[in-house]
Amino acid sequence: MSKSEQIMAQADEVLLRAYNRFPVVFSRGEGVTLYDEEGKSYLDFGSGIGVNALGYGHPAYTQALTQQVGKLMHVSNLYYTAPLEEAARALTEKSGLSRVFFTNSGAEAIEGAIKAAKKYASRRDGHSGHEIIAMEHSFHGRTVGAVSVTGTAHYREPFEPLMGGVRFARFNDLESVKAQVTEKTCAIILETVQGEGGIYPADPDFLAGVRALCDEKDILLILDEVQCGMGRTGSWYAWQTYGVKPDIMATAKALGCGVPVGAFVLGEKTAESSIEPGDHGSTYGGNPLAAAAVSAVFSIFEQEDILGHVKETAPYLEEKLDALCASSGGVLAGRRGMGFMQGLIVREDLPAGKIAAAALQAGLIVLTAGGNVLRLLPPLVVTRSDIDRMCEILGKVITSLQ
Ligand SMILES: *Cc1c(COP(=O)(O)O)cnc(C)c1O
Repeated sequence: MSKSEQIMAQADEVLLRAYNRFPVVFSRGEGVTLYDEEGKSYLDFGSGIGVNALGYGHPAYTQALTQQVGKLMHVSNLYYTAPLEEAARALTEKSGLSRVFFTNSGAEAIEGAIKAAKKYASRRDGHSGHEIIAMEHSFHGRTVGAVSVTGTAHYREPFEPLMGGVRFARFNDLESVKAQVTEKTCAIILETVQGEGGIYPADPDFLAGVRALCDEKDILLILDEVQCGMGRTGSWYAWQTYGVKPDIMATAKALGCGVPVGAFVLGEKTAESSIEPGDHGSTYGGNPLAAAAVSAVFSIFEQEDILGHVKETAPYLEEKLDALCASSGGVLAGRRGMGFMQGLIVREDLPAGKIAAAALQAGLIVLTAGGNVLRLLPPLVVTRSDIDRMCEILGKVITSLQ
């Protein structure tokens, strides 16, 4: 038995069977390459599901975290720390939003966003009982509140009854959103670019229309930027590309580049008249280690002009992927996406998961998404030659499966 086989067999004895893991045991990473226990290397176009924007072992990131670990890990939110202020400052500056609440995950950021919206409406109206409009094929996380606004039935149904007062509309269909508005509607929640659902960017007209609808009826717009935010589309947040500003934004994944951290961030109007002391809290949220990671991420992004790199390199990625589709013998029916968040639509009779598994064998990590899509979320530091190598491996894998 190899070392990997031993670890996998032992892990399967003690871990809850909540995941279908690929049969690989990773032990270290460097740049955009992961290595398994046997020393085999893998080109990573998944980034741990959009988390590792800086790749692996980034020296300035490692140094910032190492320093913080030696200084202070945690004090709770009963007290102030300098890293907490610095991280919140960066997040408000880059988003143009006003106030930050740090969480430990994306789902928790969604939970907080929902509570803030409900509190805003209950303070305004003097009563509770408000509703939220969410989108079909959306994904907002696995906690009960987040699952309640997730538009995929099989994520929700076993856990019903969930949070009530959620109505679903069709993404990119403004009339279907309008049809769900009632006097009780307090918020509309959507991903600026749907991720798990199959990489669907919002249509500019749709997003602008939802914003106008929210303004007209004093409904709060919650944009979930957990996957599409933090530079992935070439802006700090995808909504900045559209010129549409949310009242509340949820962010996580690449926010800490590996340290578990998320946040919900409120615009001035919402911040001033929603959450008050005692309404919400978190033991860990924004602790010095997480906050140091957030600050390091923002400062490295600036120093290395990561957004500029994504903007400059994304057209090359798109061009290469379009060429791959064209030469795939019909296996890849097309491409959707923005920046370094790309989906390849796979022919119906070939499961995208089978391609991802074969790619892993061939030393390339890619993800899948709903609707039989291969999902690419590379580290934001990938170069043109990494993109060339990815296309070469994926092209060979596709040929071998035909
Ligand atoms: C991953 C994801 C979440 C949930 O984040 P967790 O950290 O897994 O809780 C929420 N929304 C979107 C869009 C995501 O991609």
